[in-house]
Amino acid sequence: MKDFATIRNDFPILFQEVNDEPLVYLDNAATTQKPKQVLDVLRHYYETDNANVHRGVHTLAERATADYEKSREKVRAFINANETAEVLFTRGTTTGLNWLARSYGDAFIKAGDEIVISYMEHHSNIIPWQQLAQRSGAILRYLPLTAEGFIDLAEAKKIINEKTAIVSLAYVSNVLGVINPIKELATLAHSNDAIMIVDGAQATPHMQVDVQALDADFFAFSGHKMCGPTGIGVLYGKRSLLEQMEPVEFGGEMIDFVRLYESTWKELPWKFEAGTPNIAGAIALGGAIDYLNEIGMDNIHQYEQELVAYVLPKLHAIGGVTIYGPQDPEHHTGVIAFNLDGIHPHDVATALDMEGVAVRAGHHCAQPLMNYLDVSATARASFYFYNTKADADRLVQAIQATKEFFKDGAN
Ligand code: PMP
Repeated sequence: MKDFATIRNDFPILFQEVNDEPLVYLDNAATTQKPKQVLDVLRHYYETDNANVHRGVHTLAERATADYEKSREKVRAFINANETAEVLFTRGTTTGLNWLARSYGDAFIKAGDEIVISYMEHHSNIIPWQQLAQRSGAILRYLPLTAEGFIDLAEAKKIINEKTAIVSLAYVSNVLGVINPIKELATLAHSNDAIMIVDGAQATPHMQVDVQALDADFFAFSGHKMCGPTGIGVLYGKRSLLEQMEPVEFGGEMIDFVRLYESTWKELPWKFEAGTPNIAGAIALGGAIDYLNEIGMDNIHQYEQELVAYVLPKLHAIGGVTIYGPQDPEHHTGVIAFNLDGIHPHDVATALDMEGVAVRAGHHCAQPLMNYLDVSATARASFYFYNTKADADRLVQAIQATKEFFKDGAN
C-alpha cells in the first residue's frame, strides 16, 4: 500500500510556491490534481497508440480500441456495475444528468409527475430537471434539510410518494460535506415506483462506491475530481432502463445501419456514444482508477476522515468561523464550507491565496442552497488524500492571520 506521507511526491504540481509560500491546494471539490502515473498514461497513449476507436482494422486502432474498452471494464469494477454495457463514457457529471433528463425524461415523464431533488443539489442536478419540468408539465419538488444539513428523512417520506417519478440526489454535498443515505432513499423511491438517480461527483473520488448495493438506477460522476483528466466522465445505468432509452446525440460510432430516412443504433453502451469520444481521457481515467485502487478507496476515505477530525476542531477554536453542514467530524467529509464573521468570502479566499492556500469562494454552483442557508456565498476548503495535517495547519494559520488582518484593517 502507498504511504500517505509520501504520496504527494506523485503530484508534481504541488511542489511550487504561490505568492512566495509553498502551495497548499485545498480546492479538490472543484478539481483534483493528477499524479505522474496518470500523466504517463496520457503521454503513452498519444506517443504510441493514438488512433480512432472502433473503426480501423490497423494495429494502432486496435490498440486504442482495446485500451478504451479496458478502461470501461476498470470503471465497471470500480463502481461494481453488473456489466460494461451499463457504463457509458460522458464528458462529466453534468453531461450524464442532462442525458438522463433528455432521454429518460422525455420518454417517460408526463404532466403531473413529480421529480424530487433536494436543497443541497449542485446546479447540474437542478437545471436539467427544471427544464424537463417546463417541457413536460412535471412538478419539481425539493427535500428540505435539517438544521445540521442532513436530508430530513421524515419529510422525505412524505414528499416521495406515488406521484414521484424521479428522485435525483447528490451522494455527497459539494458544500455541506454530508454523505446522504442513498440506499434508504432508493428504497423509498422504488417503493413508490420511482427511479433513483445519484449525482456521484463528490462521492466517487473519496469512498468505495457500489451501484448495485445502493440500488441506484443511474449514477453519474466526473473523472477530473478523481485524479483523471477533464472532459471525461461516466454515466452508469441499469441495462433494463438503458435499453428502453433513446440516445441523446446522433452521428458516427453509435449506429448500426444508416438508411436515407431512418437509422438503427448499435447495442449498449455504444448507442449513447456518438462521435469520436474522449479516447485519451477514458484511458487516463482507467489509469486514475488503477492509481486509486492501489491506495484503496477505504483507506482514502479513512485518511480523509482523520484529516477532517484533525482540522474541524481547530477551525471551531479560531472563533468567528461558521462552518456549514454537520459540526461533528464523524458526519462531515473533507468538503468544508465556512465563513469568517464580517469578512466577505471572496476577501477570505484572496487573503488565503496570499498565504499560498488555495480555497474557493462563491456560491459553489448551489445558489438554492445558499438561499436556504441565508448566505450569499461561502469560502470552501476541500481536502484530498494528498493533503496532510501540515496543510490543515497552514489553513488554520492563514485563517487566523486573515481574521487578525481584517480586525486591524477595520480599526
Ligand atoms: N455535482 C456535484 C455535487 C459537483 O460537485 C459537481 C462539480 N462541482 C458537479 C455535479 C458537476 O460536475 P462537472 O462540472 O464535472 O460536470
